[in-house]
Amino acid sequence: RAKAAGRNTVRVYDESMNTKAAEQLHLASKMRAALGKSEFTLHYQPQFDLKTGQIIGAEALVRWRHPELGLVPPGKFIPVAENSGLIVEMGEWIVLEACRQAKIWQNEGLGPIVVGINISPIQFRRGDVEKLVSTALKLTELPPELVELELTESLLLEDSEHLKIILQNLRSLGLSFSIDDFGTGYSNLSYLKHFEVERLKIDQSFIRRLTEDAHDEAIVSAIIQVANSLQLQLIAEGIEDQNTLNRLIELGCAQGQGYYWSPALPADEFKQFVLRHRAQLST
Ligand code: C2E
Ligand code: MG
Ligand code: MG
Ligand code: MG
Repeated sequence: RAKAAGRNTVRVYDESMNTKAAEQLHLASKMRAALGKSEFTLHYQPQFDLKTGQIIGAEALVRWRHPELGLVPPGKFIPVAENSGLIVEMGEWIVLEACRQAKIWQNEGLGPIVVGINISPIQFRRGDVEKLVSTALKLTELPPELVELELTESLLLEDSEHLKIILQNLRSLGLSFSIDDFGTGYSNLSYLKHFEVERLKIDQSFIRRLTEDAHDEAIVSAIIQVANSLQLQLIAEGIEDQNTLNRLIELGCAQGQGYYWSPALPADEFKQFVLRHRAQLST
């Protein structure tokens, strides 16, 4: 009986796995079509210098404008895009689109606004990020100083010579790097010695309850020390209220982004936001 039940359990498990795999395949094929139909769009979330209050950058965040489902957040489709390899093609569009937009803002005198572009580890593994970025910079004529590539800790943990060379070549184009979701990936920070980056992005999971949770505060404080001693820039993600902002400033954090100021916005709304913000600062 136990054996039969065991077999049964295994079969049920297998079927649900198949259903899940089938769903993912289905979603991947819909995404492939969506890429062709320009259903993807980038929204931009402003980033702030906490001392001057100025907007220093914009993180590009992809959304799927689905004809029936409406605006689909990346958490719902990026993992599928990664598993299916579609992230390579999608990432090509994202990099080009973000650079194109940043160049428009530069032409409009909105800058200097550094555009942060999220790059999946899969893009490094299966795509040619170096060629992609250099082509985008050439095509759009965007100054490379206005581009920051957001890398994940998991990528840098690969510690491969190949990756080191790619990142060096990218750096020699003149752009900068940040480490996204910093603090969530790994406790050993030795990779910071092998890969040069300009900025750490403290993950929002440590910011959310900063003013209530002593552990979170201790972690954030430690991350701020690490950034200071390594002379890296540091930005806190997910700032939602004034108290959290005040605490971060007290702790010595210099940059932030979050719903306290604004969620990610369509490009035209982002521009209006910057203009309004600038007018407010100067009064
Ligand atoms: P991420 O790169 O860490 O982006 C930050 C996420 O936090 C964004 O979610 C942003 O909308 C959200 N966020 C910003 N401020 C706040 C806040 O104050 N409170 C809360 N609760 N959330 C806030 P989003 O846009 O849903 O993106 C989720 C993740 O999807 C990103 O995390 C990134 O890992 C991935 N992603 C988004 N766009 C791209 C892309 O173009 N390429 C790649 N490879 N991944 C992307
Ligand atoms: Mg990011
Ligand atoms: Mg993040
Ligand atoms: Mg994240």
